Amino acid sequence: MNENFNVLNLPDEMLHMTLMGGQAKVLLCRTTAMARRAAEIHCPSSTALAAMSRCMTATAMLGVMMKDDNASVTVTVAGDGPLGKMTAVAHGGKVKISAHHPEADLPLKADGHLDVGGLVGRHGRLTVIKDLGLKEPYVGQSQLVSGELGEDFAQYFTVSEQQPSLVALGCLAHEGYCLSAGGVLVQAMPGCSEELLEQLELRSVFFTAISREVADVALEDLAKAWFDGLEMQILSRETVAYQCDCSRDKMEKALIALGRDELRQLIDEDGGAELTCHFCRTAHRFSRQDLTELLERASR
Ligand SMILES: [Zn+2]
Repeated sequence: MNENFNVLNLPDEMLHMTLMGGQAKVLLCRTTAMARRAAEIHCPSSTALAAMSRCMTATAMLGVMMKDDNASVTVTVAGDGPLGKMTAVAHGGKVKISAHHPEADLPLKADGHLDVGGLVGRHGRLTVIKDLGLKEPYVGQSQLVSGELGEDFAQYFTVSEQQPSLVALGCLAHEGYCLSAGGVLVQAMPGCSEELLEQLELRSVFFTAISREVADVALEDLAKAWFDGLEMQILSRETVAYQCDCSRDKMEKALIALGRDELRQLIDEDGGAELTCHFCRTAHRFSRQDLTELLERASR
């Protein structure tokens, strides 16, 4: 497969558009570099990479939709498949992800496609936590539909956010490498005409090969072709990328939060600590001396 696939290096980005003067909202993105970075960090199987990429793409969409720079969104997909729980976090278009078993894999399906639904699991829960910097975060949940993630996110938007949505997410992966990845989200706004709904339904067949579609065409050209005659208007163009925001400072706070007894135990029994970030696999080392200083801070 894909021996002759032409791998181009078009930049990752997300276009935010409206159709017919705002009757529908569209987000269209390429997330190939994001998936390649996730593959470098997590060394996943091709199937796991496809699952993680699809989840990151949807999380990036949620992040970009929040607009506020201080806001963040955390998506957890807890299915009953061998991948285990998967968690993605976005600050705007900056996304990171972790999964319990990125090495897990399943044979290809009869149609030759990666069995993402089987790996994620067809039963379970999709949880979205939006932290707007207010006291209480917004928490939305829905049941998984197929574990293929496109349908699952469509279900989440439609049921939990009461926003009828079409979602297509794709990642063309081969031997743990991402050839191309992307996604599209179409949401009908209140007052959307029947004619436009019909048109969107008709054109949704274009979205099924989204990963291949975004591989070698500029997003703007793709959108122009797909939404021809629907008064497509581009509102914004955002950069999306894999980025972890962990730091030694945050790790120190986590260690202090363990409490004095735990810290003392780490000093006396282990003589230090090494914390590895789940999202970027960076190891942060703390010596006996470092921990003693943290213990002093915890005692204040
Ligand atoms: Zn990190």
